[in-house]
Amino acid sequence: MPHFICTACGTQHAEGEQPPAACAVCEDDRQFLKVTGQQWTTQDKLRLTNRNSILHEEPGLIGIGSQPHFAIGQRALLVRTPQGNVLWDCISLLDAATIEIVKGLGGLKAIAISHPHYYTTMVEWSRAFDAPVHLHAADQQWIMRPDRCVKLWDGDTKELAPGLTLIRCGGHFAGGTVLHWKEAGGGKGALLAGDIVQAIPDRNFVTFMRSYPNMVPLSGPAVERIGALLEPYRYDIIYGAWFDRPFTNGGNEVLKRSIDRYLYWLRGDGSAELR
Ligand SMILES: [Zn+2]
Ligand SMILES: [Zn+2]
Repeated sequence: MPHFICTACGTQHAEGEQPPAACAVCEDDRQFLKVTGQQWTTQDKLRLTNRNSILHEEPGLIGIGSQPHFAIGQRALLVRTPQGNVLWDCISLLDAATIEIVKGLGGLKAIAISHPHYYTTMVEWSRAFDAPVHLHAADQQWIMRPDRCVKLWDGDTKELAPGLTLIRCGGHFAGGTVLHWKEAGGGKGALLAGDIVQAIPDRNFVTFMRSYPNMVPLSGPAVERIGALLEPYRYDIIYGAWFDRPFTNGGNEVLKRSIDRYLYWLRGDGSAELR
């Protein structure tokens, strides 16, 4: 039986002869139902219409995304370490070319995903590379295709390999996670942030939201908590959720400046907007 994939968010669901009645990820207030209604596809159909592109981000870091744009335009990042490769975030399309390329690079030691908008076809990636999928337990309810490959973790941090640490920031999702990569940029460090910390067109700032498409902000304490959790880590570059968003450098300062700006406007008394 097929595992249907929601075309709006890219989430693959448990197998069934018919598509599910609805996609819970899209019905959630952080997403939306398109005016054209709920539509479904399968991995086999997707392989006929899309292909994956590979982008060299920096030595040891390779972006993988689908062309043309599919679902919310997710892109995964392959992090190469001496202990093995880690796939950060995931995309719906997994085709033979992608499998051969990733296997040629040494396969995958582990898969880790920032939040449910990137769960996509994680079970298929796991099976192709015999790698566990690490998800934060606080987002368990959003797993639409349960499988033994999923390893739930708890708490604030989890080390995947030396210098490669998952940090649960919450915010956009309760289990919202970023990945700190200590050796990136010749030792300057990088934050692989998904949209838990969102890269935006202005490279001097990032931002934070509960819902990006529906423009629902996070609370002040939630953003302060993100700042506190990331305080112990050093990073220069912040890699966001998509290919088409520029990354930035001066990462620690960018985050601090952005939190200050966010809180300034969130806590204003309304007078600044009339000046
Ligand atoms: Zn969906
Ligand atoms: Zn998201």
